[in-house]
Amino acid sequence: MTMTSLAECPPTGDGTECPAEYALLPPSGGEIHYLWYYIQGSIMNGDVRRSLYNSWGFCERHAWIAIQVEASFRHCFMMGPAILYEDLLQLAAPAMAARGPLKNWLILNRLREKGPCLMCDMNLGPDSKGVARPEMVARGRDTSELHRLAAMSRSFWEQTVCGRCLGDDAWPRCRPHMLEDLLQGRVRDLDRHLSMIQRLKRHIVRYSRSFEWAHRGTATDEDRASLISAVGWFSGWQPFLSMVGMDHR
Ligand SMILES: [Zn+2]
Ligand SMILES: [Zn+2]
Repeated sequence: MTMTSLAECPPTGDGTECPAEYALLPPSGGEIHYLWYYIQGSIMNGDVRRSLYNSWGFCERHAWIAIQVEASFRHCFMMGPAILYEDLLQLAAPAMAARGPLKNWLILNRLREKGPCLMCDMNLGPDSKGVARPEMVARGRDTSELHRLAAMSRSFWEQTVCGRCLGDDAWPRCRPHMLEDLLQGRVRDLDRHLSMIQRLKRHIVRYSRSFEWAHRGTATDEDRASLISAVGWFSGWQPFLSMVGMDHR
């Protein structure tokens, strides 16, 4: 498919409309406004945190929009998302490690969403306007920082891309497709998935620690890749694959 960056989206006057053909990850003014004014300030708020744990992050669309907006506004200083996904991986790894005859049922039960996506629940969709200034909307739609993060760590995250999201025969499954496969009794390689999750957990711990002063400069590309892999695993890869031109389905 033709790769079109949102950074190339032409100005539209009020800055809140982006023609569909330009928008592979089209965050709306309302979504950007929410992410900028609320998530960054309230990410440590107990209710927000609980909601993010209950739904394993955001839905596929909002998970990638949140990462893109954070990358753009913070120039890839991804401390907030790294901490969130470290927490989620710390919860998911033992859930994946279930053993015994009820193993598949336990994994299904533990890793399904227990609540709606926080942003969907607030009706923050592609048409939500918000009151973000046009320059803020333009900045929130700029994918160049996420492209930069993706490019420097590609050799590591691409090993973890879900074969069903990608439409090839790669063995990894994102969490939603793994649950689907489990439900249909066709799941395989659960131990391999557990190893992948444990490896991602080790690297995202290193990545979030690298934002502490005492550990500054210690993050490797594999550590950075673990954030992209974690977002893809928890929520699905489609918007990201479209953005980096790997959507072959
Ligand atoms: Zn959502
Ligand atoms: Zn998938």
